[in-house]
Amino acid sequence: MKSYRKELWFNVPGRRGLINITPQVDECLRESGIQEGLCLVNAMNITASIFINDDERGLHQDFETWLEWLAPHAPTDKYLHNRTMEDNADAHLKRTIMGREVVVAISAGKLDFGTWEQIFYFEFDGQRNKHVLVKIIGE
Ligand code: ZN
Repeated sequence: MKSYRKELWFNVPGRRGLINITPQVDECLRESGIQEGLCLVNAMNITASIFINDDERGLHQDFETWLEWLAPHAPTDKYLHNRTMEDNADAHLKRTIMGREVVVAISAGKLDFGTWEQIFYFEFDGQRNKHVLVKIIGE
């Protein structure tokens, strides 16, 4: 069995931002040379998510609106976590809703997606370096 590991780095200029990272994951798969197996992609920071969905601008704004309704950033003093001198309690909650990782099957050397599926990095507390793990195992 072959095993491949790589960290991807992101520094989103705003507090929040969404990036389609499918091209980077595809590049990892090419580098790995693995034809049949599994590809795990997980955020390595607890205020960012990896998820799979449609690359459609309206939907992305809908996610943003929905998450801000569920866990608004402000007022920051309503969160117990922010008593630790942080202001990112909402980011931890948003990350938990959108998830930590995805696993994609690899078939015939390709990411074996369902219809319209793409992999996204969702930043909830940006303006600093964050990393994402890509782990691929198989033959
Ligand atoms: Zn925090």
